[in-house]
Amino acid sequence: MADKYDAVIVGAGTAGLSAALAFGRAMRRVLVLDGGPPRNAPAEHAHNLFTRDGVAPDELLRLGKRDLEKYETVEVWEDVATAASGSDGDFTVTLSGGDSALARKVIIASGQTDVMPDMPGFAEAWGRGIYHCPFCHGWEVRDRPLAVYASGNMVMFRVNLIRNWSRDLIAITDGTEAPEEDRKKLDALGVPLYESPISAIESDTEEQKLTRIVLEDGTEIEREGLFTNPPQRQSSELAETLGCATVYMEMMQAHAISADPGTRETIVKGVFVAGDAGKIMQSLANAVASGAAVGAFVTHDLAADDVAAELASLTEKQA
Ligand SMILES: Cc1cc2nc3c(=O)[nH]c(=O)nc-3n(C[C@H](O)[C@H](O)[C@H](O)COP(=O)(O)OP(=O)(O)OC[C@H]3O[C@@H](n4cnc5c(N)ncnc54)[C@H](O)[C@@H]3O)c2cc1C
Repeated sequence: MADKYDAVIVGAGTAGLSAALAFGRAMRRVLVLDGGPPRNAPAEHAHNLFTRDGVAPDELLRLGKRDLEKYETVEVWEDVATAASGSDGDFTVTLSGGDSALARKVIIASGQTDVMPDMPGFAEAWGRGIYHCPFCHGWEVRDRPLAVYASGNMVMFRVNLIRNWSRDLIAITDGTEAPEEDRKKLDALGVPLYESPISAIESDTEEQKLTRIVLEDGTEIEREGLFTNPPQRQSSELAETLGCATVYMEMMQAHAISADPGTRETIVKGVFVAGDAGKIMQSLANAVASGAAVGAFVTHDLAADDVAAELASLTEKQA
């Protein structure tokens, strides 16, 4: 297509739709690419989101898209961006069918994908008994028998937080040893420590809770919930193909796209990041906020470029 969009937003999750709203209200012509389900799709409900506590993940995005309907300059296409190239003011985003879209700016809002460990029962219980975030799902399992699973050097850090939701807590490491100091703390707090990796998870899918955790050494422990952070990978390869830098966040086991903390512009001029794909506290509320910020800052850049072009053309005419 020859027509150039002000911006192509890759990803129609919370961050992408939030950015699109700001662009729509600024009458900016943007294309939002909706490549499929959001990261929290495995969970039945989303929590800790102002005015929407308990909303179903697909309902949240349906509401987000409905809000965009009245803004004629916003298009949402069900398509996947496979590559992007170019430079500020002149990007080409390639779509899955081979078509491409031209844009002055690119917004990467494609999120992160949680990499499921090769462990029987884990993927089935992800978001339904196994959780990464207590602010999202902790209240639902408050005071229930819970476990944390982390490397030996991170396990105390996790216990500190999850103990806020339940004192009936055990700690399991992936086979690596917890530091002596942390062992003493766990012992004093009455948190049993297991240092054999988990080999399988058993759960009640209807009740959406775990029933048993089985360790490699054969130990079986009855628990209703497990908090752990599996590694993440960027859901799209756009950051890599465009040359954006990433930073490794050990706590999340994720490579986040580096960006200016204010404007969210990456090291590649004209390429911005919103939501989980960048370095933020990963949550829906923060995805909303970073999307809105990107929409505003990019609009500011576009408007300033338009003014500069207008002034240049006026000067040319006068000369
Ligand atoms: C199981 C689970 C439950 C969670 N529950 C909560 C909760 O209750 N409350 C909370 O605040 N947070 C929760 N989170 C975190 C929350 O899901 C994320 O912080 C949030 O989804 C980030 O929004 P996003 O728009 O950045 O990414 P996403 O929501 O993942 O959206 C990115 C979108 O981009 C699309 N996409 C990817 N690649 C491409 C491409 N190449 N082209 C086009 N589109 C593409 C994806 O399909 C997706 O739709 C949960 C996470 C998980 C894993």
